[in-house]
Amino acid sequence: MARKFFVGGNFKMNGTLSSIKDIVENLNKAQLDSNVETVIAPPALYLLLVRELAKKEIGVAAQNVFDKPNGAFTGEISVSQLKDSGIDWTILGHSERRTLLAESDETVASKTKYATDNGVSVIWCCGESLEQREAGKTLDVIAAQLAALKSKNPDWSKIVIAYEPIWAIGTGKVATTEQAQEVHASIREWLVKNVSQAVADETRILYGGSVSEKNCKDLSKEKDIDGFLVGGASLKPAFVDIINCNL
Ligand code: PGA
Repeated sequence: MARKFFVGGNFKMNGTLSSIKDIVENLNKAQLDSNVETVIAPPALYLLLVRELAKKEIGVAAQNVFDKPNGAFTGEISVSQLKDSGIDWTILGHSERRTLLAESDETVASKTKYATDNGVSVIWCCGESLEQREAGKTLDVIAAQLAALKSKNPDWSKIVIAYEPIWAIGTGKVATTEQAQEVHASIREWLVKNVSQAVADETRILYGGSVSEKNCKDLSKEKDIDGFLVGGASLKPAFVDIINCNL
């Protein structure tokens, strides 16, 4: 089965009512490649607005979700609340949450299991720090993140993997096409060995970290790169060029 190219836009904690409306209007009026699945992730406060404004073919994702049913969890948002608001996706395990908010591999895996079991698809992020890369530990770090996820036995059909080397996020230092392809191929290999050939063949593996309208075309040609998770550039009109990089 061919893997549909996927482009996610992670707005992070950016935007205002007015700037987010502008971004969505810009996407709505653009001709987006119909062979690409586009999903945008505004801050939680704007999820409903974006779901209401965005054309139907654009998916909307939260940037995080909790792994418990509704209840006494101040400050959290539940999976059922996302579904109630027409939000079918969430990002989980972004490195900013892993590092700044101390989310462990175990926490991220548990949230991913809960979301996928309850009908919300997940852009599951993984990736190594510069220190880990320089110590030659890139593949070990990612394998440990994947192993934590696998131990929860999640619904892989609802997971898109985003490989985001931490040193490339928001730095302008994009991984070379070879560096990205090497890690993507090893993630797919890991899935073959530890989950199944079918899951390895069907799971989309996105690259994230300083993706721009300038570097997206070359990255997209790599065999195991099935799309992007875009941060900074998703706030700009050039996001349309990234979505349309294969046209
Ligand atoms: P960036 O962020 O494109 O601004 O590097 C990517 C991400 O954090 O998802």
